[in-house]
Amino acid sequence: MKALSLIKEAIGKLLYPEGLTCAVCECELDESSRNGLCPDCSVPFISKFCKICGTALIGSKREYCDRCVGGHNKFYFDIARAPFPYERECVHKLIWNLKYGMQPYYAKVMAPPMAELLSKMNIQPTAITYVPLHPKKEKLRTYNQSELLAKQISKITGIPCIKTLNKTVYNKISATALGKDDREKLLKNSFEIAGDVKGKSLVLIDDVFTTGATSNECAKVLKEAKAKAVYVLTYATSRGDKPATYEPDADYIKKLKNIRSQ
Ligand SMILES: [Zn+2]
Ligand SMILES: [Zn+2]
Repeated sequence: MKALSLIKEAIGKLLYPEGLTCAVCECELDESSRNGLCPDCSVPFISKFCKICGTALIGSKREYCDRCVGGHNKFYFDIARAPFPYERECVHKLIWNLKYGMQPYYAKVMAPPMAELLSKMNIQPTAITYVPLHPKKEKLRTYNQSELLAKQISKITGIPCIKTLNKTVYNKISATALGKDDREKLLKNSFEIAGDVKGKSLVLIDDVFTTGATSNECAKVLKEAKAKAVYVLTYATSRGDKPATYEPDADYIKKLKNIRSQ
């Protein structure tokens, strides 16, 4: 219990740096605002989710989502969880900002709810790790958003963050634009082990869980290297096989271009 209250205190400190504005609509935040978002932009945690992949479930009696029911879609990871549904626009916008918007500080407002969920997952992880980017892509983006989230969560929880994987294949096309089968093909054999994971229980961090293809490919490599358990933790999770799309409006793109050229 002591650990839990320490985590909550750390989350509180990270949540309310002075002068913080809502990460989505940019209004000024007061102390009652959760997770770096104003009440209008806040989304409640997913309360009913698939026991395997963590996707939000509609209908009170279901325990598994369509893709996990009957175990027809076998994942290498043990479970996947996310605090928020990807379909909500403000959730989508935060992820977009962190990933493509050159705004790495968004990791600071996205990590606390992930850490909060991790503290409720009833698991004993040895270490936190993250989905790697190909070095060429990381150089273009200037940072790896999953690594930033993992390091923030590590800071809050005290669980060490370690690098365990390399991305060895550079994909020009983003997997985000593809459906499940194409994603699997694109990602197959594109990760390799980069650290000792034997016997370790790992929390694998990524920004979003859509088809599960990325997390699954990473988990496969980690399990082949004798990791004891792989728990996937993302900021958001999507309901289906269809990739979600978010297109910011023209003004927003213009603003991003200005940030990039600074
Ligand atoms: Zn807002
Ligand atoms: Zn599921």
